[in-house]
Amino acid sequence: VNELAAGNLEAAEFVRELKTIVGSAQVFAGDAIDPRYRRDLLGKFPGRPGYVVRPASVEEVAAVMRLATASGLPVTPLGGRSGTVGGTRGVDGGIILSLERMNSIREVDVSAHTMTVEAGVVLQAAQEAAEAQKLLLPLDLGARGSATIGGAIATNAGGNRVLRWGMMRDMVLGVEAVLADGSIVRSLGKVLKDNAGYDWKQLMIGSEGTLGVVTAAVLRLRPLPTTSQTALLALDSFDKMPDLLRRLEGRFAGTLSSFEAMWGPFYEFVSEAQLIRRPRPMRTGHPFYVLIETLGAQAERDRSLFEEVLAEAIENDLIADAVIAGSERERINLWAVREELREAFRSLHPVVGFDISMTLADMPGVVTEVEANLPSVLKNPIALFYGHAGDGNLHIVVSLKDGGAGAEHAVELVVYSAVQRVGGSVAAEHGIGRERLEFIGYTRSPEELALMRRIKSALDPLNILNPGVLIPVK
Ligand SMILES: Cc1cc2nc3c(=O)[nH]c(=O)nc-3n(C[C@H](O)[C@H](O)[C@H](O)COP(=O)(O)OP(=O)(O)OC[C@H]3O[C@@H](n4cnc5c(N)ncnc54)[C@H](O)[C@@H]3O)c2cc1C
Repeated sequence: VNELAAGNLEAAEFVRELKTIVGSAQVFAGDAIDPRYRRDLLGKFPGRPGYVVRPASVEEVAAVMRLATASGLPVTPLGGRSGTVGGTRGVDGGIILSLERMNSIREVDVSAHTMTVEAGVVLQAAQEAAEAQKLLLPLDLGARGSATIGGAIATNAGGNRVLRWGMMRDMVLGVEAVLADGSIVRSLGKVLKDNAGYDWKQLMIGSEGTLGVVTAAVLRLRPLPTTSQTALLALDSFDKMPDLLRRLEGRFAGTLSSFEAMWGPFYEFVSEAQLIRRPRPMRTGHPFYVLIETLGAQAERDRSLFEEVLAEAIENDLIADAVIAGSERERINLWAVREELREAFRSLHPVVGFDISMTLADMPGVVTEVEANLPSVLKNPIALFYGHAGDGNLHIVVSLKDGGAGAEHAVELVVYSAVQRVGGSVAAEHGIGRERLEFIGYTRSPEELALMRRIKSALDPLNILNPGVLIPVK
């Protein structure tokens, strides 16, 4: 502990002060820190935090921040560690501030259609609490079992239903946060409309822990859909994808909730890897597959409209084939091809993953360019393409197995150059973190970056909140 001297305070004294704030059992220092706090999810950014502290209230968070400001020690807020861009690594010798104990669901207000939750509530727990009141928290993503509401706010998480209900930003009505100097700012109102001056909470959303620690939020809920219709579609050309999407949106009149695209090789690879557990839902060989889902409230009417619209799409030659889930089990099996990727990707490791966005019309050009340029930086490249296509969000996974030193960076240059050419984003939903710091300028202009720095220095003049994340040092 001694070598981790905390600014002006001796480390042992610093630990004592932290323990006074949160209790002795909630402070860990040096070698006593559990390994899970030393690495990010993908293990790309191992770190050596000096302290881990687990406050249980906003007042405790504020006191920790005051102490951090006094000592000049950097603080990294930590949610469920499901972020994929190294945002939770922290600074060596700094403080990891885990929100895991702030996990209470304070209220589900059925009449106002809102829920008030602490930042450490796990997304799935929040979803289930809403469902118990026949309400829907629309945010949904593969990491639902570990991602927290605070982390989802800090990364403005997206996921599988953005097409219909938007990203986290669209669900946040109120935020309580602690600023770098320890001041508590609270706006936990439940109203939809509030134009009383700057909407400061928007600064917290998507700021990746660099502007404040989110401690609680009010989230907007929707009526719980009671029926779902899910299908896997095959397309013989990408040109048909935008037309298909717009037609489905029109015909399903606002109930289309997911539109997930998979390129043929991705579908073949993942469904092959899953064969030991489940049958392949549709034959391989089509160039594109799309998983669609509508969520509604009228079982028979929704079903017949779903079948009618897909039959029309086949007649109009928009889709080449369709498999409709006939039961919840079949629905889960269809989603598994798109969502259960960890095991399937294991044989490709090490990999580099991308989460980029562009218009749907620009997507095939970007894919073609990336495929054409990868052989110049990788021997026998394996690249798989899929994503939340309804939102213009493309994921790419590239195996680095045959790559040498520098291969990852070379692949990043290939992908991000293609994104820059079409005016897309290098970070559609997972954020910048540490991983993409070098590439934020491919999407943001120098003037935008200068504005971001001004905001950062206004709210965090000592640069103690998650330094090294989101904004490159000049
Ligand atoms: C299998 C899988 C699927 C995923 N799918 C999606 C997807 O579809 N869409 C999507 O958007 N993301 C997705 N993600 C990424 C990830 O789940 C989200 O970014 C999630 O919102 C992070 O939440 P977390 O609680 O795990 O945050 P963490 O990983 O703990 O932290 C993420 C960042 O937020 C900051 N932070 C965390 N909590 C707070 C807080 N209370 N106050 C201030 N800052 C904080 C951290 O410092 C860090 O910079 C996926 C991840 C996995 C592993």
